[in-house]
Amino acid sequence: MNRVANRSTIALMLAVVLLGGMCVFLVEYVMNAGDWVIFPGNPHVYNGVNIGCGVITDRSGEVLLDSTSDRVYADDSAVRKATIHWLGDRHGYISAPAVTHYAPDMAGYDLLGGLYGYSGTGGKAELTISAKVQKTALEAMGKKKGVVAVYNYRTGEILCALSAPNYDPDDVPKIDESKDKYEGIYLNRFTQTAYVPGSVFKLVTAAAALDTLDNAADTEFRCRGSYEMSGGKVKCTGEHGTIDLEEALAESCNCYFAQLTEVLGADTLKRYVEKLQITKSLTFDGITTAKGSFSVEDASAQQIAWAGIGQYLDTVNPCRFLTFMGVIAGGGEAAQPHIVASAGSGLFGGYQASTVSTGRLLDEDTADALAELMRSSVKNQYGDKNFPGLNVCAKSGTAEVGGDKKPNAVFAGFCMDEEYPLAFFVVVEDAGSGAKTCVPIISEVLEACKEMMDDE
Ligand SMILES: [Zn+2]
Repeated sequence: MNRVANRSTIALMLAVVLLGGMCVFLVEYVMNAGDWVIFPGNPHVYNGVNIGCGVITDRSGEVLLDSTSDRVYADDSAVRKATIHWLGDRHGYISAPAVTHYAPDMAGYDLLGGLYGYSGTGGKAELTISAKVQKTALEAMGKKKGVVAVYNYRTGEILCALSAPNYDPDDVPKIDESKDKYEGIYLNRFTQTAYVPGSVFKLVTAAAALDTLDNAADTEFRCRGSYEMSGGKVKCTGEHGTIDLEEALAESCNCYFAQLTEVLGADTLKRYVEKLQITKSLTFDGITTAKGSFSVEDASAQQIAWAGIGQYLDTVNPCRFLTFMGVIAGGGEAAQPHIVASAGSGLFGGYQASTVSTGRLLDEDTADALAELMRSSVKNQYGDKNFPGLNVCAKSGTAEVGGDKKPNAVFAGFCMDEEYPLAFFVVVEDAGSGAKTCVPIISEVLEACKEMMDDE
């Protein structure tokens, strides 16, 4: 009897252990199965570092990438080139974190049905960009390198974000990154780089002045073509005479802004760079953008002046500066940019984008005064005729980058139109004059955005 009792006890103990183990497994399964299935190596969900399931479309439903069985890109070669930095390539050289971020939503995983439980398709994601506008930007840029970006500062939708150079994933060229033509081709310059801003940075200095000085708008300084400071001269593009802030912005007078920076002081300028978040990275759709830089530690008066003019050690990320344009347009606050409109498997709600505010970064009066100054620059300098049917406010920059390269051309601004709440940022590398290079490009792209919005 004793032996039987012992055996029963052992059997019971084994049963308890088994039951306990099953309970642990069940709990783990319910809690973590989703993560196991969508682990980064699962070939049903990922293609190397990029998403490998589902269909990705632009905002109008045009298919940009179909990964349901193979990896099929758009029909149009120009659209393939213009969107590759958002979709990723076949080999993982270009990573596309925005769509990959939503792979779990797209994979359509659920506990009972497993992967692709009911849909069997791998889901769908819709981007906020327009294939048509991306293509317009690609063609307007031609062979030049840089970024063209437009976003809706009320909703946060990115309508256009082109990074050049790029290539057709269906006709991959022999890429030699040491060649100038292909320099940084795998980078999404919109999110992953920071540029010397040049004179568009004068908007930051102007914001600090409007906010902290009495009567900043009427403050006059004299430009004699150069301004002597400790540490050396600040040179101007011309001899502008005695001018106020409005003229100084329109003429992009370096002597004016050197003297304005001197009055403001390095600490105030630094405080405004922080307040306006100019160098801070942005995070959206699984992307964290590159940071910018602004440093005036141990700098001479001349170096601080150049920092107030957007040179010296200043750099800005295109997506961040685009948001700053939205903030001015929006009266001191704007929507944060995003590029994924929705992602899901069709079974459940999936992911649906919502508008996230930057919060108030700038006083409303200051933002409005800045917008007015930028509006005046377009009327008097860049030409309203380049933007038919739009009330554009803008500032150009010609950013010296050193070496044997020509300056980067930069152009930033927004439309003051209720129907077209669009902010934009353009940078063209190794190009020369900011407005001359960038205005024809952004003029075409804004026109395409306007047409698209009229059709929607
Ligand atoms: Zn000047």
